[in-house]
Amino acid sequence: MKPAAFRYIAATSLGHALALKAEHGDEAKFLAGGQSLMPTMNFRLARPAVLIDINGVNELAGVRCSDHATQIGALTRYRALERDAGIQARFPLIGEALPEIAHPQIRNRGTLGGNLCHADPASEMPAIMVALGASLRIASAHGERVLPASEFFLGGLTTALAPDEMLVEIELPAAPARSGSCFMEVARRRGDFAIAGVAAMVTLDGDYICSNVRLVLCGVGEMPVDAGGAADALLGQADITDAAICDVAAAVQAMLDPPGSVHATAAYQRHIAGVLVERTLTTAHMRARHGQ
Ligand SMILES: Cc1cc2nc3c(=O)[nH]c(=O)nc-3n(C[C@H](O)[C@H](O)[C@H](O)COP(=O)(O)OP(=O)(O)OC[C@H]3O[C@@H](n4cnc5c(N)ncnc54)[C@H](O)[C@@H]3O)c2cc1C
Repeated sequence: MKPAAFRYIAATSLGHALALKAEHGDEAKFLAGGQSLMPTMNFRLARPAVLIDINGVNELAGVRCSDHATQIGALTRYRALERDAGIQARFPLIGEALPEIAHPQIRNRGTLGGNLCHADPASEMPAIMVALGASLRIASAHGERVLPASEFFLGGLTTALAPDEMLVEIELPAAPARSGSCFMEVARRRGDFAIAGVAAMVTLDGDYICSNVRLVLCGVGEMPVDAGGAADALLGQADITDAAICDVAAAVQAMLDPPGSVHATAAYQRHIAGVLVERTLTTAHMRARHGQ
């Protein structure tokens, strides 16, 4: 199918893009990589009257690193992140998840900001941004605000963005020392959306005692499911045993209410989520212990 008729405007600067969004509000959509927007327009699930192309706004793309934080422009493409040695070294969770997203052709065009704003429930990056404690810088013609990733996702394909707002930048705090992380997912085929996925991060203190655990799932709810509370039992433990990790997995399974789909029943999603919690926590703990 072809999309419904729309007006195309190429923004020449961030200010121009924000002024156009302020003028057209919900009638307009930003065009980033187009890898979600164009299919939904072709299926006529979205019929924006105006497309504001932000691909020419260079200040929206790129990665900046300091000792304390890393800023990723919303228009930074997945491929740029895959090729960024600093991102791979600082945030192995991102590096591990990127190859699971779609296919190379889609990753050449798709952007981190577009992915987060599309807010697909099965999408990897929303869960990873919550697990990493990301802050999202949001701008409009009237000013800026910063929102934790955990408050950005409100439901399936729904975010906290107002009609005149744009996601401009994602800021990631540096991971604490002695942290290990792991991302795993199960999908029917490589590149498909996840039936279930889990991002885990374990932090140990100087005596190798567990001081923090983050556990966020994708694909099993309307938005990223923060299951960190289920892992609180691991805090303060010097030796995290397989039995303790199994208990966490069971607690996560009990709290989930997966939607089920033609690809997987809710029961299968819950089973897979439990298996992945066990495997990611075990690997993240091992990586934290051995400094990987
Ligand atoms: C075959 C296929 C398989 C895929 N598999 C996966 C997968 O496994 N995992 C996964 O996560 N994704 C998958 N995707 C989606 C892909 O990752 C998209 O690229 C991504 O979700 C959207 O990024 P984009 O830059 O293309 O955004 P666009 O498609 O351009 O935009 C998406 C939405 O976000 C809005 N938007 C874009 N940028 C901004 C901004 N800066 N501020 C405010 N709003 C903005 C747009 O207006 C639009 O509503 C797949 C896509 C395809 C076609």
